[in-house]
Amino acid sequence: MLPILRTIAEFEAWRAARSSVLVPTMGALHAGHAALIRRAAREARQRGLHAGCLVWIFVNPTQFNSPGDLARYPRTLDQDARLCREAGASAIFAPSADLVYPPGTTIPTPPLPGVATQPRLEDAFRPGHFAGVCQVVKRMFDLCRPQAAIFGEKDWQQLAVVLAMVRQERLGVEIIPEPTVREADGLAMSSRNVFLNAADRARALAISRALGSASALTTAPAAEARMREVLASAAITPEYAVVRDAGTLGQPIDGRPARALIAAMVGSTRLIDNAAWP
Ligand code: AMP
Repeated sequence: MLPILRTIAEFEAWRAARSSVLVPTMGALHAGHAALIRRAAREARQRGLHAGCLVWIFVNPTQFNSPGDLARYPRTLDQDARLCREAGASAIFAPSADLVYPPGTTIPTPPLPGVATQPRLEDAFRPGHFAGVCQVVKRMFDLCRPQAAIFGEKDWQQLAVVLAMVRQERLGVEIIPEPTVREADGLAMSSRNVFLNAADRARALAISRALGSASALTTAPAAEARMREVLASAAITPEYAVVRDAGTLGQPIDGRPARALIAAMVGSTRLIDNAAWP
């Protein structure tokens, strides 16, 4: 039956009920993504959003820095569908590249917020990456029109960039952060961990150990030196191992929340991780 909506409250309830809580991913899902999906399903229930949790799976070519990295990114849709179902998702949206980027059409990249260009972290080591992220996130929100979207703290700078872009572009999507899920030994779960051989898997543990050891030190320079020492003990030279303001990712300011962040190549695999500091 056609709903006849007479009040703003009725209209908003109708509109909200058609909206979902979105979990944006590139697939190759693991327990970290499952936590995001469970959170999204819970949020949708609490908000009375009958569409529930929608999982977006799209390996976005515009955010990769090298064709090799894009080609070898794992693609496991059948397994992903099982994980999504078990974690409580309502549907998966796995669009083709032609749907996201219709041939002959230019999908605009929103102006990049400062946190995507100034910190000299991922922005410096993966040029063009956040332009691709902002482009696909805006496009995905236009296509899916979610009420809220869950992003992992594992990609801390990405979370900050998305928060800033949503505010700047007035996209009207609530961004909900979810803590990093780790293996029992501390390694942050990542779709890229499958590329680590046994020796590199063991060395990679130095990253979470370095973040942990930074907490014992109360000045940023001392914490940064300690992180480098712990990484060096596993023969890892990081791209960065720094303490920054948790919001702007600029230099830390006394009394404001700060974050320790590390990126490093371990063998042929690039890993990133971060933690609250101190
Ligand atoms: P991706 O792994 O690039 O497909 O990321 C999809 C979403 O999952 C992003 O919001 C990531 O931050 C999040 N994510 C990835 N790994 C983890 C993890 N170990 N714990 C929590 N969230 C994660």
